[in-house]
Amino acid sequence: SAVLIDPARGSGQNQAHASRPAAVPPGMTGDRDQFGDMDPEMFRREAHRVADWIADYLADARRYPVLARVQPGQIRAALPSEAPADGESFDAIFSDFERILIPGITHWNHPRFFAYFSITGSGPGILAEFLSAALNVQAMLWRTSPAATELEEVTLNWLRQLIGLPEAFEGVIYDTASISTLHALAAARERAMPSVRTHGLMGRDTPRMRVYCSDQTHSSIDKAVILLGLGQESLRKIPSDAEFRMRPSALAAALADDRANGWLPLAVVATVGTTSSTSVDPVLELSELCRRESIWLHVDAAYAGVAAMVPGYEWILRGAEHADSLVVNPHKWLFTPFDLSVLYCRHMDVLRAAFALTPEYLKTVETAPVRNLMDTGIQLGRRFRALKLWMVLRHFGANGLRARLAEHIRLAQLFASWIDRAEQFERLAPVPFSVVCFRALPSPHHSDEEADEFNQRLVDSVNGTGEIFISHTRLAGRYAIRLAVGNLQTTEADVACAWTLLQDHATRLRNEP
Ligand code: PLP
Repeated sequence: SAVLIDPARGSGQNQAHASRPAAVPPGMTGDRDQFGDMDPEMFRREAHRVADWIADYLADARRYPVLARVQPGQIRAALPSEAPADGESFDAIFSDFERILIPGITHWNHPRFFAYFSITGSGPGILAEFLSAALNVQAMLWRTSPAATELEEVTLNWLRQLIGLPEAFEGVIYDTASISTLHALAAARERAMPSVRTHGLMGRDTPRMRVYCSDQTHSSIDKAVILLGLGQESLRKIPSDAEFRMRPSALAAALADDRANGWLPLAVVATVGTTSSTSVDPVLELSELCRRESIWLHVDAAYAGVAAMVPGYEWILRGAEHADSLVVNPHKWLFTPFDLSVLYCRHMDVLRAAFALTPEYLKTVETAPVRNLMDTGIQLGRRFRALKLWMVLRHFGANGLRARLAEHIRLAQLFASWIDRAEQFERLAPVPFSVVCFRALPSPHHSDEEADEFNQRLVDSVNGTGEIFISHTRLAGRYAIRLAVGNLQTTEADVACAWTLLQDHATRLRNEP
């Protein structure tokens, strides 16, 4: 039978067990060099080197082209196809990191990264990630790291208060908004039809369920209904108005229509800060409708929710206090290194009813009631993510965060004012936060197709310089360039650089034969 070695007593105490398998294969001495981790003194030296490298990187990321300039397959081809048989020096490894990998990095932490949602892996967050890796905590149960579990509770309460959500919302951290929303919709399904957990959806006489969102909603909602087994047909996209906000009257009509046709309305997803234009759905009206109709309201505030802490922006979450759940992503616009998404839910008990399941080997008895974070989702193992949010919130403080968010909004609005004054450019959406959607006009009498093609070429042209990185979307059928501000190092000069490049390249493209 297997022999358990008591680590407190050391293996020397176990010599009486003659049947114990040899710990050291024949011919090997079993010293530290052969079996241990990196030598602690080597770790100290290399950690200093890495810290210096990161500090230099953060001080001057502008020296790198924002968008990686490699061709598909180039990085793979530069790397050996097999793992090394023998360990290599950290010198050699680090030199390949710089020589081979860095050229293949698109620099999300670059001050001129204006694509998608611009983000920041901030200093305090990076330090927290370093510590989190060292502790290597797995916070599935309270017992497997009480501090990780309780810090998550405390930190998410801080963030909840900052964005003005009531105490009734309990928070939990997942990796991304896609997963937060998936869990919110799973909870909505659990509340509407608890039998699904046991009996599933197949081969039963259950009503077809519907989830409602606007035609501007993020694709993660589509993926959630796919994964929940509801099918994409269960997602009904409600038309938005001229400013890309969901129309409550259209939602009410869709609900009536569906009910008349035997669908079971399950949930409505309202968005605060849509992915394309950052529009804000009328959450208050939608929440009143959902309450009347007894439908779960989930608010996707993944990007913009944090702006509710900025004085004058509290309105964006008005009505969210009546929602059932809300997602906000500190990894998007709260300077927290990727990844960290927060789901706030009024009915964590429902979420736990959907997912809690404790096998014998994970059962624990504590001296007082505790939260076991594995109960709130499909994931068992979970990283110590709360540490980085805690360090970010403490380092910047509420006022520091507010000032930084407000500065990003100012920079975006400044850029929007330049677009508005330029005759050969056109803004395509309001700018409530830090994203500007616009297009260049190719000629006085262009068709929409010509404008689309021109702007596509313009984006490729400016991105090709390596100076900036911008992305695009489609708004009301038109190709729209998006400029997003969200990096803590971005200055007015960086935004001006983007504007100059766009004007210069648009002029050049207009003059091309
Ligand atoms: N919701 C909105 C409004 C988003 O803009 C995004 C991503 O940009 C997501 C959800 C998905 O975020 P994640 O990458 O964290 O899953």
